[in-house]
Amino acid sequence: MSLTLHIAADQWRGRVRRHVDDATTAGVTVVPVTKGNGYGFGNAVLAAESARLGVATLAVGTYEELPAVVEAFGGGDVLVLSPWRPWLDGGLGDDHVVHTVSRLEDLRRLAMGDARPRVVVEVLTSMRRHGVGTDELAEVAGLIDRVRFEGFALHLPLTGDHTAEATALARRAFEAAPAAARTVWVSHLTPARAAAVGRDTGSDVRLRVATALWLGDRAGLASRATVLDVHRVRRGETYGYHQRKARRDGTLVVVAGGTAHGVALQAPTAAGTMRQRATALARGGLEAGGRALSPFRIGGKQRWFAEPPHMQCSMIWLPDGVGAPAVGDEVDVEVRFTTTTFDHLAWD
Ligand SMILES: *Cc1c(COP(=O)(O)O)cnc(C)c1O
Repeated sequence: MSLTLHIAADQWRGRVRRHVDDATTAGVTVVPVTKGNGYGFGNAVLAAESARLGVATLAVGTYEELPAVVEAFGGGDVLVLSPWRPWLDGGLGDDHVVHTVSRLEDLRRLAMGDARPRVVVEVLTSMRRHGVGTDELAEVAGLIDRVRFEGFALHLPLTGDHTAEATALARRAFEAAPAAARTVWVSHLTPARAAAVGRDTGSDVRLRVATALWLGDRAGLASRATVLDVHRVRRGETYGYHQRKARRDGTLVVVAGGTAHGVALQAPTAAGTMRQRATALARGGLEAGGRALSPFRIGGKQRWFAEPPHMQCSMIWLPDGVGAPAVGDEVDVEVRFTTTTFDHLAWD
């Protein structure tokens, strides 16, 4: 009775491993990332999968996510991607944790203390989220002896080719700190481009990757929802929390998967063009009558919500003439993996 992520275990694990092996062959070390909802799998599961891969370092999004992964990752190093801030003083004691430091004042503070934490220093890119400026690198270089410095970090945009930017920033950072560890942690470069940065700067490259690693190929992944109930409804009868009146005969199909799972909750898309926006609208779109197209597929087609999804389940309207599923059947559901919490993972 659940919203289930079916994983063709051998197929999926084989592809994940190939991704890591291909990067290794190119000369790049993969740092798997898990955070948030664990890309649909959950953070502890992806930590365990990372341990199976034998990688040295796993990255998580926040300090709050550390407890869920530490044990599952088997005691390896864990990099926290959210930059360290002074109110996180308590987090400095663990030798397996690598901290990201993105402001000069935070580095100064860590350099003044006795903890000597392991840190990577993030340099601001055209992404402009976190990072020290290139004009601050000289002062950074003067402070990193007082921490255990593990390299520079660059967080790059998804759009466009930022290989040249990464190379230029890494070069400036290493020029400012010639005695420091020549390691650069990058995101959102292909393994080949990351390797080029390494060659051009004479550095070790660690490639932090989540989506391309865990979800790069959906072929071995399927999300399905259990049918919990099926009810015939006659024209004029009412149903649901909102007592909407059926305009014609049909069938209500109650399926697992509601707002608690993230079903039908929309995150803003990056759709830029009119055409992309029209497509996005059509996918999650509203009919003139206020009905929304659901992500559940029955009889080979996406079906309308009978009413807005409930917390744990959804009511789907099936017009007459479409064969209704039986209680206990599973139906396909299209989900966004970064916003969906599954009840159950089935390793098939
Ligand atoms: C989330 C995150 C990643 C991984 O991002 P994907 O696009 O899912 O591969 C890499 N680097 C940083 C800094 C991140 O926050």
